[in-house]
Amino acid sequence: AQPLVIARDLKRHFPVRKGIFNRKASAVRAVDGISFTVRKSETLGIVGESGCGKSTTARLLVGLIGLDEGDLIFDGEKLGEELSLNDLWSGVQMVFQDSYASLNPRLTIEETIAFGPKMRGVAAPEARRLAHELLERVGLAPARFAGRYPHELSGGQRQRVNIARSLAMKPRLIILDEAVSALDKSVEAQVLNLLRELKAEFDLTFVFISHDLNVVRYVSDRIMVMYLGEVVEIGPVDAIWNHRAHPYTQALFAAMPSMDPDNRTQVPPLAGDPPNPIDPPSGCRFHTRCGFAEPVCGTRKPRVVAVRGDAGHEAACHMLDGQSGHSKAGETGEV
Ligand code: SF4
Ligand code: MG
Repeated sequence: AQPLVIARDLKRHFPVRKGIFNRKASAVRAVDGISFTVRKSETLGIVGESGCGKSTTARLLVGLIGLDEGDLIFDGEKLGEELSLNDLWSGVQMVFQDSYASLNPRLTIEETIAFGPKMRGVAAPEARRLAHELLERVGLAPARFAGRYPHELSGGQRQRVNIARSLAMKPRLIILDEAVSALDKSVEAQVLNLLRELKAEFDLTFVFISHDLNVVRYVSDRIMVMYLGEVVEIGPVDAIWNHRAHPYTQALFAAMPSMDPDNRTQVPPLAGDPPNPIDPPSGCRFHTRCGFAEPVCGTRKPRVVAVRGDAGHEAACHMLDGQSGHSKAGETGEV
């Protein structure tokens, strides 16, 4: 499929104030040179521990924060050149976890959904009609819900309103950042199914961020794994599920007991917290926690290489890279 988004070497650092103990100016390297594509009509899932840069990536894609470096190309147009921030905002919408905080408590549901289109110049009666249509579509009967206020809704209903509100902007891409994480399991399943239906019906593309690997597997076509501001592995969902190539991905999955019932990977679960993103480890950033680390891992950054056997599956680990001199632990039996 055609790429809808091409992200090339995206970088975003957040400055940290100088204080008594940190005299040098420093920065949290939240997103530190990541490249990936989002294909038209796919769902790309992004996973990784908190602080890995998932949410910063989301905010960069939607234009909520600016890039320090790198190129963002949306549907063939480069941000800052053919594509203005305004164009990006009209093509990309975002749904957050906290549906209550993201709704204006003083607006009714109908006003909430009609607000964006009206700002874009849609006449009030038309915006109202659109709001009712979308409420119906997300499973909230307009006659019952249009006049209600956010506090009168359940968490699942509020998230349906947020979805309707994004659809009202006729986006090409919707970024869902932990969008179902606050919901009860049964409500979560309903909202996930709704998202799948809407995606097909409106020919949408999703970027789906979640800490819940089972949910990501359920909705995603491809999965991207991030660690300390970098992409360590990306590939089709089944490829990642069946042949996790990067030791971090293996450890992340092993940390969820239900993921690996027969303990195929033999990987110790993740020990400790990720290192400080202000001063990430040299070489491979995972080397301080990796059970397979060798001296080269602390000095040389691994390249992103193709993982054998699965088209479109890539990972950045010296073990997978023939030129690194790392003894190739995973090689036998793979071909
Ligand atoms: Fe582990 Fe080395 Fe691979 Fe990094 S490059 S994941 S430290 S084996
Ligand atoms: Mg987050």
